[in-house]
Amino acid sequence: MNADHKVAKNHYQPEAQAHIIPAANLDPETMALLVKCCPAGLYHIMGDGSLRVDVHGCLECGTCRMLVDEQALKLWRYPAADYGIHLRFG
Ligand code: SF4
Repeated sequence: MNADHKVAKNHYQPEAQAHIIPAANLDPETMALLVKCCPAGLYHIMGDGSLRVDVHGCLECGTCRMLVDEQALKLWRYPAADYGIHLRFG
């Protein structure tokens, strides 16, 4: 079983509001870094050159937050209690 199959088995309770919002007009290097760093592959560069993040699959690992400065992510917070990823053990 590869990493994509394992990530696909996770369970999430989506929030109505996104808990991660990238800033507009990021430089190409920062966008490429975010695309490359996310272990769940949630960042995508769209056809118009903008950056999109699909927060419903977020592992809440914080990697993206740690690798870019505060201006690059307009918002990064953990989802509210009972929302986001539901961690399993075993
Ligand atoms: S917190 Fe982790 S899983 Fe969530 S978007 Fe950032 S890098 Fe991806």
